[in-house]
Amino acid sequence: MDGEMLLRWLGMLAAVLHERRDALNALDAAIGDGDHGTNMDRGFAAVAARVPEWRAGVQEGTLDAGGILKGTATTLISTVGGASGPLYGTAFLRAGGALAGATDPIGGAAFVAALEAAANGVAARGRATSGEKTMLDAFLPAVAAMRAAVDAGRDLPEAASAAAGVAEEGMRNTIPMVATKGRAANLGPRSAGHQDPGATSTALLFRTLAEALADTVRV
Ligand code: ADP
Ligand code: MG
Repeated sequence: MDGEMLLRWLGMLAAVLHERRDALNALDAAIGDGDHGTNMDRGFAAVAARVPEWRAGVQEGTLDAGGILKGTATTLISTVGGASGPLYGTAFLRAGGALAGATDPIGGAAFVAALEAAANGVAARGRATSGEKTMLDAFLPAVAAMRAAVDAGRDLPEAASAAAGVAEEGMRNTIPMVATKGRAANLGPRSAGHQDPGATSTALLFRTLAEALADTVRV
């Protein structure tokens, strides 16, 4: 993993979130206020707009993966809004912080440690844990699966692919859950029967990461 690779992922993610904007809004309309797709699309479009500048920094050797993750965090915090803005902002900030001082290319174990810091940051910031029908129901198991894969000696593209499958499973597992955090918690038991929008965007994030890593191996 390195700066160039991260930029490819962020660009792909912006495109995917744009494409899925209406679907994410529809999920949020069922148990929230219908803006999750718009929030994510706005935030990642702002991130994508900064990619050329960041790419120049990478090429000049003035910006590394940690710096890109921190820049992503501040961009998301100032543009996404809602509950998810500060939560995803915290995720990227913690990931960037975990990589501070690490030089590119970053090995699988260090990258997974950064993702663990990200997930733990969301849990701390949101005062939430698994089973509350939030993005953490995709995030926590995905990161655990990625850690297990890397510890078992799999390479990063394989580990990310395993994590993406687990994130999607976690996303589907939110359907029967009753929300106890975020706007959906206001619905109480009526929140059951709907897939959580934040868990869905997190699953897209992991699937896109797996695709970005797989692409690099092919070239
Ligand atoms: P808002 O709820 O302010 O409109 P969004 O619609 O952008 O914000 O994001 C909603 C998503 O944020 C939810 O689907 C859920 O996954 C996530 N979320 C909300 N509150 C929390 C929390 N305390 N911890 C973790 N995730 C949360
Ligand atoms: Mg919302």
